[in-house]
Amino acid sequence: MLNKTMSKNCVDFIDDAKITSIIENTREDAGRVRAIIAKSMEKKPLTVEETAALIAAESPELVEEIFNAARQLKKDVYGNRIVLFAPLYIGNFCVNDCKYCAFRRSLRSTVRKTLSPAETIQQVEALEDVGHKRLILVFGEHPDYTPEFMADTVRTVYTVKKGKGEIRRVNINAAPLDHAGFKTMKDSGIGTYQIFQETYHHATYQECHPSQTHKGDYLWRLDGLSRAFESGCDDMGIGALFGLYDWRFEVLGLITHSLHLQNIYNVGPHTISFPRLRPAHGVSFDQKYFVSDHDFKRLVAILRLAVPYTGLICTARETAEVRREVMQFGVSQIDAGTRLELGGYSEKDRKGQELKREQFQIGDVRSLDEVMGELIHEGYIPSFCTSCYRLGRTGEHFMEYAIPGFIQRFCTPNALTTLCEYLEDYASDEVRKSGFELISRELEKMTDEKQKKMITERLAEIRIAGKRDLYF
Ligand code: SAM
Ligand code: SF4
Repeated sequence: MLNKTMSKNCVDFIDDAKITSIIENTREDAGRVRAIIAKSMEKKPLTVEETAALIAAESPELVEEIFNAARQLKKDVYGNRIVLFAPLYIGNFCVNDCKYCAFRRSLRSTVRKTLSPAETIQQVEALEDVGHKRLILVFGEHPDYTPEFMADTVRTVYTVKKGKGEIRRVNINAAPLDHAGFKTMKDSGIGTYQIFQETYHHATYQECHPSQTHKGDYLWRLDGLSRAFESGCDDMGIGALFGLYDWRFEVLGLITHSLHLQNIYNVGPHTISFPRLRPAHGVSFDQKYFVSDHDFKRLVAILRLAVPYTGLICTARETAEVRREVMQFGVSQIDAGTRLELGGYSEKDRKGQELKREQFQIGDVRSLDEVMGELIHEGYIPSFCTSCYRLGRTGEHFMEYAIPGFIQRFCTPNALTTLCEYLEDYASDEVRKSGFELISRELEKMTDEKQKKMITERLAEIRIAGKRDLYF
């Protein structure tokens, strides 16, 4: 039974009237926008009002300045790395009735399934066989998906070792839990616990999530990650589903949530997700709040500037083209080789999606190797790094580490070693060739000779001595 005790400082910190009034009363002001951009470039998080000023900037020149600043800030904070992961749907039974989702309980025609432990192992093996190291497990909300069940699934995933493959980080996207539930999840060794508020706008929230369902309780969900933090999960992912309400409101909702966690717990969210609503089996919605590609790019750039140290995730809901563009403005993590149907990763010969078995239609259906090839071609270092979380560099500590020099000392070296493993063990010939050329170029760029020597030695240990999982 769920214990509905809220977090110690639980409060509904989303004031719809205030956010709406900030949006309505903020006008484009070039001088102010430039001053705010200057503040972001010093890697200082922005306030809600400052973020609103960036949102109000609509003239092409100012939007371009925001894009350029986001591009630069991304380089300064993250370098040219992109972290890769894959989602793994474990079960799509659900007691909720979210109107945008193919898993909602009233939709009888959805094919329902929960992977057995053996089926989970089979899926993880298929993911390891193509080179994945980081997964996010996704669950509907259902009495069968207890914290113990989810924690057992996490433990099972970590035990699977196929060839040189292993999963080194398991994140979760699932319903908000009570304190004991989050503790159980923490003890199973999870990385990030993601909960999307979907919409921060109360009236829209109530329209999309019937009040008699679990998810109908707005505050229980809003408070979810605060309870997670109090239970030891200091690595939290927030998100909003764009297209349900005005994107400007949702961006300010995300920033308010981020600042709330930062103020109360001294730790902001590790990641922010901004999925756009996608077509799905049995789902129809009005287009009123659909976010155009242009506004989508703006919102990614604005988020980048508003929360310089927070990872931004763009999933395969978006097309390859859109992902290519928003990666420049601040996205730091993407999924690749994504299959949403339960059990889909081991169905090698099937092309295309079978929407009755999945949550929504995706926009980028490329394989991991294809995505790796493109990233390398575009000059990114694809990374499977899991070092920070395994060395305890999370939460408050991680914030301390997110200082100049950190990327050079840890992130880039770990990106290069994990890329090297991928190239040795899984890449196609073409990707292997271009990948090793990229590694050479990156080594040449390094000015610290001692560090260059250390990384070169590590790479040799991987390539010649066959060692794996070496990290800084
Ligand atoms: N059942 C859990 C919950 O609702 O928190 C897990 C989340 S669900 C499996 C993952 C996310 O997918 C949801 O939080 C929602 O934002 C998103 N989603 C649902 N339907 C979608 C759609 N039609 N298009 C795009 N994203 C969708
Ligand atoms: Fe269930 Fe989550 Fe889909 Fe809502 S979004 S119906 S809670 S799986």
